[in-house]
Amino acid sequence: MTDLTALTIAEARDALAKKDFTAVELTDAYLGAMEKARALNAYVLETPEKARAMAAASDARRAAGTVGALEGIPLGVKDLYCTEGVRTTACSKILDDFVPPYESTVTSNLWADGAVMLGKLNNDEFAMGSSNETSCFGPVVNPWRRKAADGSIDPTPLVPGGSSGGSSAAVAAHIALGATGTDTGGSIRQPAAFTGTVGIKPTYGRCSRWGIVAFASSLDQAGPFARTVRDAAILLKSFASVDPKDTTSVDLPVPDYEAAVGTSIKGKVIGIPKEYRVDGMPAEIETLWSQGIDWLRAAGAEIREISLPHTKYALPAYYIVAPAEASSNLARYDGIRYGLRVTGDDITDTYELTRAAGFGSEVRRRIMIGTYVLSAGYYDAYYVRAQKVRTLIKRDFDLAFQAGVDAVLTPATPSSAFGIGEKSGGDPVEMYLNDIFTVTVNMAGLPGMVVPGGLDAKGLPLGLQLIGRPFEEETLFQVGEVIEQAAGRFTPAKWW
Ligand code: GLN
Repeated sequence: MTDLTALTIAEARDALAKKDFTAVELTDAYLGAMEKARALNAYVLETPEKARAMAAASDARRAAGTVGALEGIPLGVKDLYCTEGVRTTACSKILDDFVPPYESTVTSNLWADGAVMLGKLNNDEFAMGSSNETSCFGPVVNPWRRKAADGSIDPTPLVPGGSSGGSSAAVAAHIALGATGTDTGGSIRQPAAFTGTVGIKPTYGRCSRWGIVAFASSLDQAGPFARTVRDAAILLKSFASVDPKDTTSVDLPVPDYEAAVGTSIKGKVIGIPKEYRVDGMPAEIETLWSQGIDWLRAAGAEIREISLPHTKYALPAYYIVAPAEASSNLARYDGIRYGLRVTGDDITDTYELTRAAGFGSEVRRRIMIGTYVLSAGYYDAYYVRAQKVRTLIKRDFDLAFQAGVDAVLTPATPSSAFGIGEKSGGDPVEMYLNDIFTVTVNMAGLPGMVVPGGLDAKGLPLGLQLIGRPFEEETLFQVGEVIEQAAGRFTPAKWW
């Protein structure tokens, strides 16, 4: 039998419909591949029994003639999503062995459409990071490795990006057919770029945040990882819904995103922001960007230089807004209601001991920054200012869209995947700079997608980012497909 894990979602869906194999057989192929790939540390919990039961139920539904949009498709779930009866930790010691009595809205949507859960995926603690090195379960290893000058494979372990590093690694390594991610400042798009996968952060409000462990509530969005643009479109259709349990979710019809894939982009206006040419950007990224422009022009798009003048303030403003909201959201982990408890002499002592033992250093840093910028005397100087900058960033995009721009094309990241430990030692700002091209999109609440564009000289994937108008994800799928057709698809050579 052919390797079932090599199929895309669209291919698996069609093959399941033709009864080439069953959902149980497909799930078993994935469970086998997961067992062999434990060196990647992508899963923090495998749920094989649940997976087989869900797959068997899917086969039974198909036999009875009810077939959902994701019927029998095996997926991995970022450990930030609450899954009923299945341990959920946000990869933090403070959640310990928390087992949620409820299911997140997004994952409920996926299971309602027939998908199968393979297990929970590693991520940076509370989704804070760009390398998956802050997880209490240890780092994820990128399935991609560098090529040495003599063509041999350099065994240096690389990061898969973060915070959704387990999701990106699993999809790239074929140990999940698709995966859920969350993106507060780039956590879907940057790991997609580092692993040669497709990742989309939809418009703020497109997907419900209910049941997803909160990081920075005004920036957090759920979104899928997939191996192709079409697969990402199929998944997003199922992710998206209005939800009375999340008042920021939006009551707009969810389009058939897949229908946009493969349609012509003739006449679409693609904006190229001059402010994204940052100092020190490797020439290869510049070249890839130009290549992307050429592909879109060749497909009939009109290319227009645009200006997003407040881009340079996005990263500093993000690192005020995100920690401020995080410090407030993380106040609930007090050792009393759920998760870890370290009992002290009195209640205050218990709070302090629990929080000191439960939170890792990056999370503690964010809480300190957040409480500082929100404190009396500093609130206006930092938090209010950052919110004003945020409005200006959004206005930059509004003006470009009003002038007729349909989508903006930028590089996804300022580098390809780096080595584990390379940027996590000293200055945290080194790590924060990874988000330079992605945070503006969260600050403005816009949809953003990363599609693989090519490989660098070391043989590592590089991504291109497309930014769209609010609630016009279809345009991203349309344009993204053109890039995918031109660039091809990228799969890491198996070493595990
Ligand atoms: N790397 C960014 C941060 O650490 C973004 C993380 C995310 O999108 N969750 O805040």
